[in-house]
Amino acid sequence: MKKTFKYRLLGNRETFGRADRWLYLCRQLYNSALAERIYAYRGQRVSLSSYSQIKELPELKVAMPEYREVGSQVLQDVLERLYRAYKAFFRRRANREGKGGFPRFRGRYRYDSFTLKQAGWTLEDRYLSIRNVGKFKLRLSRPIEGTIKTITIRRESTGKWYACFSCDNVPERKLPESDRVIGIDVGIKSFCVDSDGNGTDNPQYLKQSQRDLRVKQRTLFRRKKSGMRRVKARLQVAKAHEKVRNQRSDFLHKLANYYVRNYGVIAVENLNIRGMVRNHKLARSISDAGWGMFVGLMDYKAAEAGRTLIRIPRFEPSSKMCSECGAINQELKLSDRQWVCQNCGALHDRDFNAAKNIFRVGQTLQEVTYAGAQSVS
Ligand SMILES: [Zn+2]
Repeated sequence: MKKTFKYRLLGNRETFGRADRWLYLCRQLYNSALAERIYAYRGQRVSLSSYSQIKELPELKVAMPEYREVGSQVLQDVLERLYRAYKAFFRRRANREGKGGFPRFRGRYRYDSFTLKQAGWTLEDRYLSIRNVGKFKLRLSRPIEGTIKTITIRRESTGKWYACFSCDNVPERKLPESDRVIGIDVGIKSFCVDSDGNGTDNPQYLKQSQRDLRVKQRTLFRRKKSGMRRVKARLQVAKAHEKVRNQRSDFLHKLANYYVRNYGVIAVENLNIRGMVRNHKLARSISDAGWGMFVGLMDYKAAEAGRTLIRIPRFEPSSKMCSECGAINQELKLSDRQWVCQNCGALHDRDFNAAKNIFRVGQTLQEVTYAGAQSVS
């Protein structure tokens, strides 16, 4: 199993200064490699491969000796990132998803990490040493497991540094088997609702931090483009952001743990948030609440525990269908919290009814899977 472990990095000013310099050099390389690709394409209609750009790295080091201090694999990774950005752009264009999104030149605040592969670092106890950068102390909250594949060093907008260890062969920790099935749907008035009738709302402290963040964002917006007060406001926003992020992550981890621990099969609707732009308000509340992250967490936690997470393809009448008799209520509006089925007379709470429908589809798909048909993802 794959897993990523993230830790705060502690170190002295000089070490962070050198890591900052690596970020600067990587960003310059990214931008010039992007310029080179655009130029080659406009001029001679050729698409450069990342391979041909990687081949030029030794020449770069001769022409610009400052690049000698940065590990070769780190520089290769910069070019691979650019390649991935290109690939994603062409894929989106081919599938007509969204608007373009051509790879962009990265400004100072838009390039915040570099990645080490197998070489150029050592890990001893709580200390991570990177060649030509220095020694960092890791704030180890839990031990690293498995085989380390890559280490990504990131500077967050608050100025704090983190290391993400991406590991392979992490041992699974299976839970005792459970045949309990649950359907979970994104709620409109609460964060989520399940088919057992439990609704969970975003915790109050998180809402408070979100309000606080919005106030600080407005302050930043009012500040003049240049000037110390803007720099300060930017840092305030970054800190408020970090607080919201941490609190949300904590909340979502606990909630995901609850479902994975208590249910063998978890069904969720595969929401395409981008496809929901027609309904701005709903799409916003869903992405705000971190629904995607919640499902992602359940996904890996379920895999780790030997549970099944089923993503049900989005089906239109999930909230409009009566979970008792299957009749469809075409008149249902987003503002209707409760409704009565005209066919069988059942009284429904909107969110709870949708969760029950997801539960039923999940149950059916699960039986199909058990029957030996192709697994459903
Ligand atoms: Zn009904």
